[in-house]
Order: sequence, then structure tokens, then C-alpha cells
Amino acid sequence: MFEVLTMGRLGVDIYPLQTGVSLREVRSFGKYLGGTAANVAVAAARYGRRAALISRTGADPFGEYLHDALRGFGVDDRFVTPVSAYPTPVTFCEIFPPDDFPLYFYRLPKAPDLEIHPEELDPEAVRGADIFWVTGTGLSAEPSRAATLYALGIRAKHGITVLDLDYRPMFWDSREAARAEYAKALPHVTVAVGNQDECETAVGVREPRAAAAALHEAGVELAVVKQGPKGVLASRDGEIVEVPPVPVNVVNGLGAGDAFGGALCHGLLAGWPLERIMRFANTAGAIVAGRLACADAMPGYDEVAEALSRAAVDA
Ligand code: ADP
Repeated sequence: MFEVLTMGRLGVDIYPLQTGVSLREVRSFGKYLGGTAANVAVAAARYGRRAALISRTGADPFGEYLHDALRGFGVDDRFVTPVSAYPTPVTFCEIFPPDDFPLYFYRLPKAPDLEIHPEELDPEAVRGADIFWVTGTGLSAEPSRAATLYALGIRAKHGITVLDLDYRPMFWDSREAARAEYAKALPHVTVAVGNQDECETAVGVREPRAAAAALHEAGVELAVVKQGPKGVLASRDGEIVEVPPVPVNVVNGLGAGDAFGGALCHGLLAGWPLERIMRFANTAGAIVAGRLACADAMPGYDEVAEALSRAAVDA
């Protein structure tokens, strides 16, 4: 049985090695494992958690690379299967620190990770994981939408069940279309995590306290509102925790949210108080914002703990 089982987006990130320039001028690129569900599993594995991913790739060399990378990071890849009809997706980005990181997804004609079918899921694994983590993008197309809702149904709020609000406008016809699908998933999860824009998509409000209240209203026990360079707000059982950002020299903000997610999993599994979890995850996010890569940049426990104590001394 797994401590962290995530389901959703997986692909190859092709990131420029020159920053501050558009793709028009970039000359060379690095190849990395990417996709939010994959990144969260990798981040959790860095803390020693038994992690696995449910996803799909193309039947191609990039797909093989992703298996190698997952195994290399200690993430179980038994639920990652090939789809022969579609190529493995690639994602390019531009890096304009400190706050502009446009993404260019190549997921046509369709991403294999949206071809997850309900009947291919392993109900035992879904039910038995300590944390089961699904994403908004998984709700954007069939059959992955049905598979995600089916998995939440058999999970029946067992243990910790997370919806990462992960909203990418290009995968949807409209924000309203996304909201309608999020509304079906929210009653079946215990935790919702997203940035302010994603909260607006899910529940129609972006102010952090109001968003947390609306997420509780929708049925979640723990609401986490990420605010990028402004830190984070979390709300659970009437307790509200607000944590300021850890100062960082931003290199690439992409991946910070996934680093946050993996650290959130670690803290929830450890049963830490809410404030400790948020400080830890906030610091993990800041560390990755200070690095070029995403999955390859996920910190281990000692690194986060050290950065946390450094931030406390500086405060
Ligand atoms: P997402 O990538 O999902 O939009 P955010 O950009 O909100 O997520 O980043 C996730 C978390 O990472 C933030 O809540 C914060 O804790 C940390 N983080 C991100 N960017 C910065 C930054 N520039 N400075 C400090 N911390 C950051």
C-alpha cells in the first residue's frame, strides 16, 4: 500500500537553459519529468514517502524516459501505462523571473493522461493509500473525468483525499465549465489546495479567507490557498493559519506549487499541527522557486528544515 498515490498529468518538460528571453531566442533546452501529479509524487518520495502515480504516456521513447525518471526518483510506476494512439506530451516554458513563466503545452490531439479509464483503476490501491491526490486537469476531459470521479467514489473519503484545484484555462472551454466539474468532485475530498485563481475557478471567490470558507461550504475539511510570493493561508476546524513567504531569489516559479503539495502530504502524514505543515510546505515551495527545474529540484527533509531555521533567524 502507498502513502501517497497521485493521479493525473505526466509529461516531459523541455525548459530553456537561457532565462529572460523568449522561446524565439532560446538556443538550448533541458529535459525533465513534469506534470503536476507526477511532480507531487516525486516531491513526496523525496521525504521518504512510498509514492505512486496513476497516469499514462505515449508508447514512445519520451514515455520510456518518464518511466526511468519516475523510478529514479523512487516513485512506483506500475500504474503508468502506454497509449499507442497519442504521443507523450511535452511542455515548453519561458522564464522571466521573478513572476512571469508562460507555459506552452503540446498535448494534441489528446494527452495520454486524459485516457485513464475507470475500469483500469486498481480499487484496492485507490482505497488503501494514506493520501489519494487528484487534480482539476483530470476533470477536464473524458474518460479521465469519469475515472477521477469513480476513484473518488470508491475512495469514499477514506483517509486523506486531496483535490489539487490545478486549473489550466487552455484545457477547458470556460471557467464555468471547470467550476461545474469541480463542484462534483469537492464533496468527495477532505482537502482542497489551489492558488487564488484556481480557487476562483472552483468556488467563485479569490480572496483567501472567503475562498477557504467557500471550500468548507463545498465539503472540504482543510482548505489551502497558495498565494505565490505572498505565502499561504490554510483553514481547518475553525483554525486559520497564515504564513508569510520565505524570501527567495526566484529563478523559475514553476514547480513551487508541486513542491508545496509534496511537502503538504509529508506534513499531513506526520500529523503535524497546521501551522508547522504550512511553514514546511511554504519553505519547500520557496526552495523550488529558487531553482530552474521542477521535479529534479524537489528538496529533502533536511534541506527544508535548514531553510526554515535560517528564515527564523533572519526574521
Ligand atoms: P502554483 O504553482 O500552484 O500557482 P504558487 O505559485 O502559489 O503555486 O506557489 C506555491 C507556494 O510556493 C506558495 O504558496 C509559496 O509558499 C511558495 N512560493 C511560490 N513562489 C514564491 C516566491 N516567489 N517566494 C516565496 N515563496 C514562493
